[in-house]
Amino acid sequence: MRYDQARWRRDEDTYEPLLSEKDGGAVDPSEAVDLPDGMAREELSLPDVSEPELARHYTRLSQHNYGVESGPFPLGSCTMKYNPKFIEDLAALPSGAVHPDRPDDTLQGTLALYARLQDYLARIGGMDAVTLQPPAGAAGEFVGVLVARAHHEDRGDPRSEVVVPDTAHGTNFASAAMAGFDVVELPSGDDGRVDPEALAAALGEETAALMLTNPNTLGLFEREIDEIAEMVHDAGGLLYYDGANLNALLGRARPGDMGFDIMHYNVHKTFATPHGGGGPGAGPVGVTEELAPFLPSPHVREVEDDGGTAESGSGDGGRSDDPRYERYEPEQSIGRVHGFEGNWLVLVKAFAYVARLGDPGLRDASAKAVLNANYLASQVDYEVPHGPFHHEFVASAGDQDAADVAKRMLDYGVHPPTTKWPETVDEALMTEPTEVENRDSLDALADAFDAVRGEDDATLAEAPERTTARRIDQTAAARDLRLSWHDLDGE
Ligand SMILES: *Cc1c(COP(=O)(O)O)cnc(C)c1O
Repeated sequence: MRYDQARWRRDEDTYEPLLSEKDGGAVDPSEAVDLPDGMAREELSLPDVSEPELARHYTRLSQHNYGVESGPFPLGSCTMKYNPKFIEDLAALPSGAVHPDRPDDTLQGTLALYARLQDYLARIGGMDAVTLQPPAGAAGEFVGVLVARAHHEDRGDPRSEVVVPDTAHGTNFASAAMAGFDVVELPSGDDGRVDPEALAAALGEETAALMLTNPNTLGLFEREIDEIAEMVHDAGGLLYYDGANLNALLGRARPGDMGFDIMHYNVHKTFATPHGGGGPGAGPVGVTEELAPFLPSPHVREVEDDGGTAESGSGDGGRSDDPRYERYEPEQSIGRVHGFEGNWLVLVKAFAYVARLGDPGLRDASAKAVLNANYLASQVDYEVPHGPFHHEFVASAGDQDAADVAKRMLDYGVHPPTTKWPETVDEALMTEPTEVENRDSLDALADAFDAVRGEDDATLAEAPERTTARRIDQTAAARDLRLSWHDLDGE
């Protein structure tokens, strides 16, 4: 298979021009709208282009990119699954556009959705209470670690260390450090899992928590989780679950039942919401009953029935026997971590996704995610250490450079896997096909892997050949963001 991405080049090295560079000049404010004298600006830096030109401009830009709607997108640990369109329709309903400063009595529908999503997530994770406030997985980790700190301080036993396995997502190390902890890195055993002896050596009186991803980033289930949980708890620490990739467990196993005390969910990975490029997302955090008083404020709960006859407000048309919901501050709350109650519309999408799939749908998603990962792992020519896998596997590019392999895969019309992480596998190709790919697209992915496996270094170094943008300067793209054409002024 080969792939030619749409190219819209005017000449060799310019791409689709900026709107401000298109002919037509700037909008003349006096012609644009009839404003009272003195209110119109002299100049307005808005390009004067017609609607079709505008539509074509953005369509072309979208064709310069590769997305999950272009083809398979097996970016390991990122769970780039296709997101059904109905969630967008629901998030766009006018009734969703509520101002969060309105009194609780007029926000009952919104608060009911929060309360039900809190409950869904708690049941999925085996947790007792869930906050929806954190806006990303990393933010959820940070909240979870702050809750752990508050818990230890409350017991009069403040602790200074958080243990993180070497295969963990980089945000685990960062979140623990940002919350003021010393990070103790735990080396994995030869089988890619936690080594109980190394864990015993890492745990001590200063251990506040062990942050664990299970299945881990190699796609391997920590079979000794009961023993691990007991060891951490015996040391007086808490067990934190990185639930960014819950795909493998949905409807089958629950972190709470494995002994985890705190977890975060990445609803933008597991429960739909297009993500990438930094957002938007939501990283709800679940905790055991004991830790619930520390959750961020405000939290949403059902108003307890006082048995009285007080008129309940029905500003939004609710019936008086409907449950009522309120926002409140948990007794020992760590405080507010985001504006209002979090990324509302992302949470609407997560709610819609869970409600539409239901228990059987969630179980089906996890079955297919695991089947797809194992099928693909069995089809690729690259060495795939360990296995069998859960939601993802990590292949080794061996003597090829994983970053070159990734670039070359684009020429075969598939998005590459995550590369060079975890570092415990040489030239790692971390691959997560997700549940949404069918056999044909998995075979296309395997073909792309195998074609690249057979290519020489010179070819790889030149890749990608058939995309609009070729090798970009990734460091500059990340560090020197220029998100507005105003930033190009004067160049
Ligand atoms: C994506 C991811 C995170 C961080 O989530 P963000 O929403 O990107 O902040 C944490 N842990 C794991 C394992 C992840 O894959």
